[in-house]
Amino acid sequence: MTDLPEAQILPITADIGVDGRLMIGGCDVRDLVGKFGSPLYIYDEATLRDICRDFVGSFTAEYPNSHIEYSSKAFANPAIAEIIDQEGLDMDVVTGGELAVAIAANFPPERMNFHGNNKGREELVEALQYGIGIVTLDSFAEIDLLNEVAGELGVTQQVMLRLSPSIDPHTHLLTSTGILDSKFGFSIETGDAELAVEQAIDKESLDVVGLHFHLGSPIFELEPYSEAIDYVLQFAANMRDRYGLELKRFSPGGGFAIGYVSDTLPPAMSEYAKEIAVAIRKGCDAYGLDEPEVYLEPGRAIVGRAGVAVYTVGGIKTIPDVRTYVSVDGGMGDNIRPALYDSEYSVVPVDRPLAPRNQTVTVAGKFCESGDVLARDVDLPDPATGDLLALPASGAYCLMMASNYNMQTRPAVVLVNEGNARLIRRRETYSDLLASSLDID
Ligand SMILES: *Cc1c(COP(=O)(O)O)cnc(C)c1O
Repeated sequence: MTDLPEAQILPITADIGVDGRLMIGGCDVRDLVGKFGSPLYIYDEATLRDICRDFVGSFTAEYPNSHIEYSSKAFANPAIAEIIDQEGLDMDVVTGGELAVAIAANFPPERMNFHGNNKGREELVEALQYGIGIVTLDSFAEIDLLNEVAGELGVTQQVMLRLSPSIDPHTHLLTSTGILDSKFGFSIETGDAELAVEQAIDKESLDVVGLHFHLGSPIFELEPYSEAIDYVLQFAANMRDRYGLELKRFSPGGGFAIGYVSDTLPPAMSEYAKEIAVAIRKGCDAYGLDEPEVYLEPGRAIVGRAGVAVYTVGGIKTIPDVRTYVSVDGGMGDNIRPALYDSEYSVVPVDRPLAPRNQTVTVAGKFCESGDVLARDVDLPDPATGDLLALPASGAYCLMMASNYNMQTRPAVVLVNEGNARLIRRRETYSDLLASSLDID
């Protein structure tokens, strides 16, 4: 523990160096920017591994037959995939591209699950050719398509069905995925889920091994999980009675929250684990089901806290009695979350993290949109051009949603550990921006 006000949302190795500056993974953040450029995304290996172990430990303590599947859309990168593999986690992918990243890292395909609400034929062919463990089906068209593809390839594919349990997880509407009005999953309420079980179970090349739901994200409450688990287990028992469905695998999805600001922290992982384990045992008991293998699918909660974004301050504009804008060299191109979801972020002054923060400012990006703001009304110590600002909890859904808007090149990413920094994604170049337009035969 350090004196850093953001100690609970920064990586666990965050510290203050001898010259008073922010350190992560034993590396001086200003030195890292000097070497790798700005903006820079820094991932802390110790935090990533610690969180993986916390997940595995917390869930297996409460429910021994549980597995953690990293949802790689939070941050798909070969170096991260290698660590996930070493820590013994499984992996979720939602596109052929995420699958390609995992395969490039030699991640075992049999420990992968292919999600997504509209997988294409090519993507399914690729996944089955690699020998993917599970495909989670999300629509009637997909049931037919996968059965056809598996038949053509001469394989029987294990599948799960994604259900929509009509449960509101009380998070942003745009990140709620298990409510009735959602594009995701077969709705239990409308009868689609039953129809999907009936159809999928009859398909020659599909082996239905279980049911899945994912409520949304980030979920700071525990009750939505247990409510949905009870509802889906009751449904599973009905499907067993009507169609002989055997619930071997069961997944209550991901959605576990992280702290973006120090005064809104999520429950401990052990609390989520307990709530989920108790609900599953209770439901199985109540509806006479054998306890299934359970798969948790965290994305944000695995990589979110491990990542920190660092920006350099350029122009500062003060509008008297209105607002001071501090503009930085990144923004919605590398982190669209504040613009898309009104997400909040904390801002750490890299050179003086302990200095009194006497000015309230708005940190804006450099993109040509008024909505390109990274953090509204945050306190900083007299910001000046050239300062470095760090945004904690930037490891998930920032770079993965990055764009080249304004033809801005996307930032470099380094992985730090015990004083060493390794480049795991280089900064884009203008040639990268032009390659897809000029490399045409
Ligand atoms: C995105 C997603 C997850 C991960 O969500 P987090 O909030 O990052 O934990 C898990 N399961 C499915 C099906 C998803 O689409």
